[in-house]
Amino acid sequence: MGTSTGLQCCPKLLEGIDELERQRGLDVKPEAVPTLLRQCGDFKALAEGKRVHAYLVRARYHRDRYFGNLLVEMYGKCGSVEDARAVFESMQARNVYSWTMMIAAYAQNGCYREAVRMMHRMDLEGAKADKITFVAVLDACSSLGDLSTGRRLHDRVLGFLDSDVVLCTAVLNMYGKCGSVDDAKSVFERMTNRDVVAWNAMVAAYAQNGHCRKAFKLFARMAAEKVAPNKSTYVSLLDACSSMAGISKGRELHGLVDRAGFLRDRVVRCAVINMYGKCGSVDEARQVFEAFPDRDVALWNSMIAAYAQNGQGEMSLQVFERMKEATNNARPNAITFVHVLCACSHARLIERGRSYFGSMETVFGIQPSSQHYRCMIDLLGRSGNLDQAWNILHSMPLEPDSLAWTTMLSACRAHSNVELGELCAERLFEMEPEYSAPYVLLSNIYAARDRWDDVARIRKLMADKGVKKPSGRSSIEVGDKVHEFVAGDRAHPRREEIYQELSRLGSQMKALGYIQDRSSALRDGEEEEKEQMLWYHSEKLAIAFGSVATPARKSLYVIKNLRVCTDCHTASKFISRITGREIVLRDPYRFHHFRDGWCSCGDYW
Ligand code: ZN
Ligand code: ZN
Repeated sequence: MGTSTGLQCCPKLLEGIDELERQRGLDVKPEAVPTLLRQCGDFKALAEGKRVHAYLVRARYHRDRYFGNLLVEMYGKCGSVEDARAVFESMQARNVYSWTMMIAAYAQNGCYREAVRMMHRMDLEGAKADKITFVAVLDACSSLGDLSTGRRLHDRVLGFLDSDVVLCTAVLNMYGKCGSVDDAKSVFERMTNRDVVAWNAMVAAYAQNGHCRKAFKLFARMAAEKVAPNKSTYVSLLDACSSMAGISKGRELHGLVDRAGFLRDRVVRCAVINMYGKCGSVDEARQVFEAFPDRDVALWNSMIAAYAQNGQGEMSLQVFERMKEATNNARPNAITFVHVLCACSHARLIERGRSYFGSMETVFGIQPSSQHYRCMIDLLGRSGNLDQAWNILHSMPLEPDSLAWTTMLSACRAHSNVELGELCAERLFEMEPEYSAPYVLLSNIYAARDRWDDVARIRKLMADKGVKKPSGRSSIEVGDKVHEFVAGDRAHPRREEIYQELSRLGSQMKALGYIQDRSSALRDGEEEEKEQMLWYHSEKLAIAFGSVATPARKSLYVIKNLRVCTDCHTASKFISRITGREIVLRDPYRFHHFRDGWCSCGDYW
């Protein structure tokens, strides 16, 4: 948001500053200053805030602690941490408010480490933190995912905790964000009075850590304890549905927020669209999107993303073109371009992708981030222009991160390019020795070239370094329950039927010409063992279960925690053809929509 937008809402602010400047030289106490500074902060009017600051300097009030604190707060809200820091450092006598405002300034502007460091310095200088300070630092720890600092803060605030719902919620929130759900739960259960914010924090803690069923149980308990859910409750639950492909729960929530009148809220609507997009139902996302004409950047982005993630690149770009023509204040931002470039990549629109990428800075004034460069590497790599992708990788203004190298390596895998693949993998082995993906990808490349000695060498390297491939898990929603499978899983009550279905599908597939792709088997064991292992991958089990447990021709939505292997991808194509079902398979990288023997990803992932 620019300075001018804020001021349009507040002409009084400008008048007030003019008036203040006219008073210069008169020996009066600047009564208007606190209000003006607060308004500058609220409207993010940095230039005007600086004028008030300049006035205070001229009137020699700037060394006053009271005004100093207000200035730190104003600069923090206006996003200028440097100015806030300069005022803070020049203050002669600070109080707890000064420290807290400086910490808040850091935290609000994404400088979480500095916020935590500021608290250490506060301790060293003997200043005593209060609840508000603790809440600000706990929030910073949440954003950093810094559990150990968070725990130390928890110990320090134990004394206040009982009485203070805001502080308790900040502690609970910190545990949730740092991935320690049990700690969050124990804080929550010990709270004597919980408001809806506390309930929401607990729902979010479950949802964000993949305990989706628990999130919904807690939601039911809220109703039982007569706590009315608000918009944030629904946003967290909708996000939970996205992560577990719980489309039926998601539809239910959509109905609930609609009836509560919350769909008018853009944040809620965005969550509904994201939920449908992530659950693979783009049409439903589109209906919600079209139903309300007031759209902000986030809503446009959600719709563009829903199409892009689901492999409908052209549709995604159509929405983007509409967005550019829309008259309201929805100018594309950096996130828009991530989705747009991803859409180009899906639709293999290399030239358009290049031109959008080029327009980012020249037309929209957005500097491409490493994420945008990664999209370009993906776009070029997918189409087989590995040399050009390699050049992009080396033209990044910042040192390429491991994600960029992994994207390049994936492109090499898709085109079985050993030379560049080895270079990428070696680089990644140095950067993140524990990271299993490069070992697996490189070994896939060797396998595709029948270089089994090299496959064995990589396997040994992994074992020597103690690198473990995380185990694959797939989940599918049937009825209103989510069923999770691991490879070779025999824990499911309907295992007999599942394995029978798999072998039935297997023989039909073979009749249609399916040949198992063993390049995905990392182990170089007995042929038969390899065949067995691949055949019982978690996604196949989930699909077979969906096939026996749902009516014929019903679409299946499966979520996999790791990249889908080549063999499961091929098998899913065959199964979609044999069963006449649409199969949506989502992995952390993209969606695969299998329909009648084809996949929306065009066999590149
Ligand atoms: Zn597989
Ligand atoms: Zn695919």
